[in-house]
Amino acid sequence: MNNAEIIELTHQHMVDVYGCSPLAFARGHGAYLYDADGNRYLDFFCGLAVTSLGHGNPRVVRAIKEQAEKLTHVSNVFHSEPTARLVERLANHFGDGKVFLGNSGAEANEAALKLARRWGSSVGGGRFEILTTLGSFHGRTLATVTATGQERYHQGFQPLMPGFRTVPFDDLAALDRALHDETVGVMVEPIQGEGGVVVPHADYLKHMRDWCDRNKLLLILDEVQTGMGRTGKFFAFEHTGIKPDIVTLAKALGGGLPIGAMIAREEIASSFTPGSHGSTFGGNPVACAAAVAVIDALEQDGVLENATSVGAYMLERLTQFARSCDRIVEVRGLGMIIGAVLKHDARPIVDECIKNRLLVNGTAGNVLRLLPPLNLTREEADAGLAIIENAFKNAPIPK
Ligand SMILES: *Cc1c(COP(=O)(O)O)cnc(C)c1O
Repeated sequence: MNNAEIIELTHQHMVDVYGCSPLAFARGHGAYLYDADGNRYLDFFCGLAVTSLGHGNPRVVRAIKEQAEKLTHVSNVFHSEPTARLVERLANHFGDGKVFLGNSGAEANEAALKLARRWGSSVGGGRFEILTTLGSFHGRTLATVTATGQERYHQGFQPLMPGFRTVPFDDLAALDRALHDETVGVMVEPIQGEGGVVVPHADYLKHMRDWCDRNKLLLILDEVQTGMGRTGKFFAFEHTGIKPDIVTLAKALGGGLPIGAMIAREEIASSFTPGSHGSTFGGNPVACAAAVAVIDALEQDGVLENATSVGAYMLERLTQFARSCDRIVEVRGLGMIIGAVLKHDARPIVDECIKNRLLVNGTAGNVLRLLPPLNLTREEADAGLAIIENAFKNAPIPK
């Protein structure tokens, strides 16, 4: 099928919730995607921070093929080697944790929220309320959309779930004011991704950790977007010297296959007992084999180092460019999550980049978000940045 046929067929039969770009992709290789008509695109979008090792990473492809030939599914009533290997690797990265596996970021967060309530209902003396932050994004299930501090995701879904309250991001005094007798924990992204690549003050998480300890609260970090090397460390919290009570991963975890993980400190994880939570597909052997291959690549292929150095280079080049571009207010980010805050809607820049065969993403209205592969070369970075810089020169300024 060509681009037009694929797009037409999809529109006829699929529920329209995405507002898709008129592009249909057929294959990918490294940092490049090829559409169904054979055009090549440089990918700074990565399936929304999912394909962090690029497309068709040999380690990941091999792991998926080998596991698919052996066994694709057994149910969590039984065990399988890829699942065992993955939980070991994740627990080791977290340090003294236990892992629950689901299929998405929302499910990983749902597990974290349920675990926090379950812990609160027993050890925590009946507390249940979770504080989240304005501008956050935690998913689309009813609990995670309630936790999401953006009203546009709530419209038409009221009544939302009880037991959640939002406070401004990067504001410790607001947390203190919001604290109730029922508060059991706080859920926050180390960097708000969907909310516009909002990087908090360097000591925000550290103070939040202290504040949680003083008030016997659980610190839940949503690393669905920032985890798995996106910021140059396995977990973004490793930049801060603190450790959360619960962390969630998804997006890049499966190298393109759907998988999510919730990792909790062991004494908290033990509030989940047999029968209290579960998932039919969670921990699927093929997805787990892919995730183990992703972790191998992060540990052995210099991917984190590359994300740190090429990410810093891109941030620097874009910051320099912004000095001479009056359409950009600010450039911010860490590692390979980079945002340019614009004076206007990001859409015309995104469209101009796509026209010139670079995939980028606009979020929070006026933020141009770059989520390139972590193993991007400097030459590929330069090629993409040149397209972006030209887009600022050529794209129309929206009214
Ligand atoms: C994307 C995202 C989610 C939701 O993940 P899904 O896999 O779409 O359910 C949750 N939290 C953060 C921070 C995200 O970026």
